[in-house]
Amino acid sequence: MKNEQTLILIKPDGVQRNLIGEIIGRFERVGLKLVAMKMVLPQSDFIEKHYTIDPEWRRITGEKTIKGYRDKGLQPPFDDPYKITEIILDNLKKFMTAGPVIAMVWQGVHAVKIVRKLVGGTEPLSSDVGTIRGDFVLDSYQLSDTDDRAIRNLVHASGSIEDAEKEINLWFKSEEIINYKLISEKILYDVDLDGILE
Ligand code: GDP
Ligand code: MG
Repeated sequence: MKNEQTLILIKPDGVQRNLIGEIIGRFERVGLKLVAMKMVLPQSDFIEKHYTIDPEWRRITGEKTIKGYRDKGLQPPFDDPYKITEIILDNLKKFMTAGPVIAMVWQGVHAVKIVRKLVGGTEPLSSDVGTIRGDFVLDSYQLSDTDDRAIRNLVHASGSIEDAEKEINLWFKSEEIINYKLISEKILYDVDLDGILE
C-alpha cells in the first residue's frame, strides 16, 4: 500500500506561471515521495495516447460534458458524446504541446486519491479553495468553450490506480523511476516509532 504510485503532469500553464515549485511543494508537504521527474515537450499523438489510455475516456468525458451543459440549462454543441470529446481532445493536444510539461511520479499510501484531493476538481471555477486548481486558477468551461480552447487547470493527475500504472508506463521507462528511502517515511509509516528518544 505504501508503494502506490501516481502520475502528475504540470501542464504548460503551470510551467509558464512559475508554479512548478509551489505545486511540487504541495505533494512534498503531505508526505508523498517523488520517485521520477523530467521536463518534456510532448508530441500531439503522444497526448492523444495519454488521454485515451482509458478506453472509456471518450464516452465518459463526452457524456459528462453534455450533462454539464444541460445542468446549466444550455444546449450542448452536439448530442453525440464522441463528437464533443473530439473537440476537447483537439484542444487538449494544442494546449499540452504549447510548451514544456513537467512529468512526475509520486509514491506513498493512497497516492492516487490523496493527489486528486490536493489537485481539486477539473473546472477551476468550482474546484475547492485550498486545492491547487482552486487556489491558482480562475478559468471556467464557459470561458474556455467560448474561446474554443482547453481549460487551463495547471495539472493532470491519474484518476485511478489502473490508469496510473498505464500512464506511468507511457511517460517513463522503468529505469527512470528511482527506488530509495526517505528519512521522513519513518515518522509517517513506522509502527512503534522507537529510536526517537535518546
Ligand atoms: P481531470 O482528470 O480532472 O483532468 O479531468 P478529466 O480526466 O475528466 O478530463 C481531462 C481533461 O479534459 C480536462 O483537464 C479538461 O481539459 C477536459 N475536460 C474534461 N471535462 C470537460 C468538460 O466538461 N468540458 C470541457 N470543455 N473540457 C473538459
Ligand atoms: Mg483524468
